[in-house]
Amino acid sequence: MAFIDLHLHSRFSDGTYGPEELATQARRCELAAIALTDHDSVEGCPGTAQACAAAGIEFITGTELTAEQDGNELHILGYGFDTRNARLLTQIAKFQSVRQDRVREMVARLNRLNVPLSAEAVFALANCQAPGRPHVARALVAAGLCASMDEAFDRFLKKHRPAWVPKFKMSGAEALDLIHQAGGVAVLAHPGLNRTDEVIPGMVEAGMDGIECFHTKHSTATTQRYLELADRFHLLVTGGSDCHGLNKGKPLIGTVEVPYHYLEKLKARAADLAAAALPH
Ligand code: AMP
Ligand code: ZN
Ligand code: FE
Ligand code: FE
Repeated sequence: MAFIDLHLHSRFSDGTYGPEELATQARRCELAAIALTDHDSVEGCPGTAQACAAAGIEFITGTELTAEQDGNELHILGYGFDTRNARLLTQIAKFQSVRQDRVREMVARLNRLNVPLSAEAVFALANCQAPGRPHVARALVAAGLCASMDEAFDRFLKKHRPAWVPKFKMSGAEALDLIHQAGGVAVLAHPGLNRTDEVIPGMVEAGMDGIECFHTKHSTATTQRYLELADRFHLLVTGGSDCHGLNKGKPLIGTVEVPYHYLEKLKARAADLAAAALPH
């Protein structure tokens, strides 16, 4: 049986792997296909597509947009869109600039607490367009200001800690529209983590195409519950590891077994959407 991993992060957001390493890891796991889903970014897609092509692995373009619906943070995965779509790129650039301002604000708060970190040090370490709290945490560790990422989050960066800054988010409907108009399918990420099932009917109404049933942090029972929900709402089923690089010394990539046939259905839906979008 062939397996896929449709939820992976790279150094273009808060993961650590570069394109070649991702392709190498995918090959080691004997995956038939992968998608790159960096937070609010598509920067790593062209390079990963190339590395996957060289390694004989099917690549699906992807992203994980940060959205908010009824006060809940939602992550919306986009798949199979055109990474050169002008509106998608403009909007993503806007969200990335908001992320960069947020890093500056977190650093300013740290400085007020007499923690001498510079925004430049965070940006240099992040070396990508979509920096976030993990990069601030890593920079604190690199500068010897915290002993570990956990300490950085616990003391400063967790919600309601002194250097925490809320994140601006687009609405769920906006995220769906942005992905659709770029020719992609939109999927609710790890619903079992957010525990916000009440938003699902409204999101389906708004055009959401699928739901991530298989995820590292979903138990077998949770996966089963979302598979039934997907069936009830006629939604596509996706899944992936949400690998960010090494986790306790081991990468998560390939550890969630997602059968390839789910990707066939996803691609068929993407093709239908693209055909419907063409002028008749
Ligand atoms: P951001 O999108 O900038 O708010 O950062 C969120 C990311 O921070 C999440 O995707 C996690 O990967 C990471 N994160 C959140 N809490 C912790 C923690 N306590 N320790 C390490 N990483 C964390
Ligand atoms: Zn992440
Ligand atoms: Fe997520
Ligand atoms: Fe993720």
